[in-house]
Amino acid sequence: MQIDLWEKTIEQVRVSLPSAAQLWLDYITFESCDDNCVNLSCASKMQLDNFNKFCKPQVQNTLDELNGSHLNLNIFVVHPAAEKKESKVKASGKKENIAQEKKSDSMLNPIYTFENFITCESTLFAYNAALSIAMNPGINYNPCLIYGGVGLGKTHLLESIGNYIEKETPRKKVIYVTAETFTNDYIDALGDKKMASFRVKYRKADVLLIDDIHFLEEKIQTQEELFHTFNDLYESQKQIVFTCDRPINELKGFTERIKSRFVRGLNINLTAPDYETRVAILRKKCESKRVTINSAVINYMAENIKTNVRDLEGSLTTLIAYSNLIGKDITLDIAREQLKNIIATPMVSEQDISISSIVREVASYYNVEVSEIKSKKRTKVIIDARNVAIYIARKITQYSTTEIGNYFDRDHSTITHSIDKVEKEVKINADLSSSIESIEQTIRKKAK
Ligand code: ADP
Ligand code: MG
Repeated sequence: MQIDLWEKTIEQVRVSLPSAAQLWLDYITFESCDDNCVNLSCASKMQLDNFNKFCKPQVQNTLDELNGSHLNLNIFVVHPAAEKKESKVKASGKKENIAQEKKSDSMLNPIYTFENFITCESTLFAYNAALSIAMNPGINYNPCLIYGGVGLGKTHLLESIGNYIEKETPRKKVIYVTAETFTNDYIDALGDKKMASFRVKYRKADVLLIDDIHFLEEKIQTQEELFHTFNDLYESQKQIVFTCDRPINELKGFTERIKSRFVRGLNINLTAPDYETRVAILRKKCESKRVTINSAVINYMAENIKTNVRDLEGSLTTLIAYSNLIGKDITLDIAREQLKNIIATPMVSEQDISISSIVREVASYYNVEVSEIKSKKRTKVIIDARNVAIYIARKITQYSTTEIGNYFDRDHSTITHSIDKVEKEVKINADLSSSIESIEQTIRKKAK
């Protein structure tokens, strides 16, 4: 077997793989071969695992076919980055200082890594894109926005990028903050007249990771400062990744200048996991916690907890804690009993509830016609019903404000205005708040 047989194999396999999987071929290097085996290498265990998962079967088949007989594939992990890093650190004798300085600045939680992010069809694109950013910061996908509802893994992916870079390229300065911390830092700097050091702190980042950027909605001054930080870093090809609970162009009161830059960058949408993914996540989490839960219980949880990974994890923790306390394995009956609060009133995802079912329920509650809610009529009761329907649609489904706007035939800013109005009103109007609660319960019951 020759290297060109290997190259032919790769060429053929590449066109047959989905593009998200092709990435893993590029990390494999041909080393040597003989009549029985091919020796390959890659740079990390993660590359190896992903190659094995997404490419190896096709590579093996094609190789055997082109060769005319079976060849063993041996793949070794060699770690050039780690070796270089080690020798640099030794030469300067500053290993601990670097580690400590990094830790205090970046505030990353080490539990969030690519290794323990579970991939499946719906998360593979997000995972690959984030990993690609971590491997080549500032080069491929800049800026990048990871968006989606709560508990879907935004923070996990964002911090994985930071942890990966800190480990593989410690000389790169990673700054990870929540948008809230960024705002507080900015306000403190203003108060203490320390803007210069604030700017130095953020602008010396090679990688700036800001979590939950929606927190900056309406905070015009902080946004302005962020815009300058952003520009500075972007122009020097430093990597910028933000997370947000919705697409950035749906943020109200957000500077158009930042929005337009993100629209041109990479936007990754994390969506609620499907049934198979929920089962896979539960199984993987059991594995890593070293507990065994029978598959009837796993299936029951996956069927009923559809919202997000955080809820799945929380439910699993509840069951494990209970099982430890009573010293017994979890049965289906125990799971039903222990999870009844979570499963009885679940948040419902867009797959389960349509906007029209919400409008029907709101119309019946307010005693108006569905067509009136969707019409341009402006009598008080119809406006109230319309606003409540819009508010509930945003609250209990994952439809974006743009999608909700399409349904009501209104533009995005009218929709956000309605949501704002009800949001403010429920805080001070107990009647409205309990009306909404009761409408939501009826909608959920009917959706089940
Ligand atoms: P978000 O920031 O979107 O609200 P998080 O990143 O905090 O969500 O995720 C919530 C929890 O779910 C975390 O414990 C995270 O580790 C876990 N999680 C989310 N997605 C995955 C996934 N694909 N694989 C493994 N764990 C996940
Ligand atoms: Mg988060």
